[in-house]
Amino acid sequence: MAPFEMPKKLPFLGAFLHLRSEVLRCRGCLGELGKDSEAGLCGYCWSGLLPLPHARCERCALVHGSERECPEPVAWTHGDALWNYHGGRPAFGALLMPGIKAGEWGWRAALLGRAETAPLPEFVAEVNLITTVPAHPWRRWSRGFDLAEDTARLVAKRVEKPYAKLLRKPLRSPRQTGLPESKRRRLPQKAFALSAVTANSNLEGKIILLVDDVWTTGTTLLRCAEWLTKAGAAEVRVLTLFRALEDHKGHGNVPIVTHRSMDPRDAPRGEKA
Ligand SMILES: [Zn+2]
Ligand SMILES: [Zn+2]
Repeated sequence: MAPFEMPKKLPFLGAFLHLRSEVLRCRGCLGELGKDSEAGLCGYCWSGLLPLPHARCERCALVHGSERECPEPVAWTHGDALWNYHGGRPAFGALLMPGIKAGEWGWRAALLGRAETAPLPEFVAEVNLITTVPAHPWRRWSRGFDLAEDTARLVAKRVEKPYAKLLRKPLRSPRQTGLPESKRRRLPQKAFALSAVTANSNLEGKIILLVDDVWTTGTTLLRCAEWLTKAGAAEVRVLTLFRALEDHKGHGNVPIVTHRSMDPRDAPRGEKA
């Protein structure tokens, strides 16, 4: 059968149908948007917000066995994330986060909405103060938001603990984004500094929860935790929206949870489900 061709006299109809089909497609998997869709992403894509593996370490959130040391240096007693960055197919965190940072306000609102009800690790309830990994002032201004801070404030509200901006990013600080992993691991301590709030508040003996959006190599969190400890914090704990596991292949033999079986879209290309 010959493929259907749009009559040349009806360009508007063609444009309308094209636009309509664009609107009804999921922006993540290009499948149809069903009733569970939100912010232009289908329910299947949203189900990619998967928790981290059960057997994860309570400090580095990777799976590396109880007898082994954490594959990365950690300067906190507890560390966890709400979701696996590479969960789902396409990997949902890896789809959402660059989109949100590029200005997808709908995605950001929908994600924060889910963070309102996602189960929080128990250790969050015992902290005295909640703070965040600071963003560069210019980046924050140009984006108009700071997802790490939004998350920290949301968590603070959920567990009814105070939020304070204890750290700052100096104007002339090195950039992390876009650097290869080896360089990201060499982040100097001067990339961050204590804020004026910290100078005026007593962190002595306090348990601080440090919040960020994505935890990849952990170097940023490490530097921030070091500053908080220097300022007198008795203990630092870490919580992020996402934890990237795939960057740790070979480090800790981490099982990668990216699949959900039973869905035909999980079948590799060219294979029948
Ligand atoms: Zn989808
Ligand atoms: Zn560990």
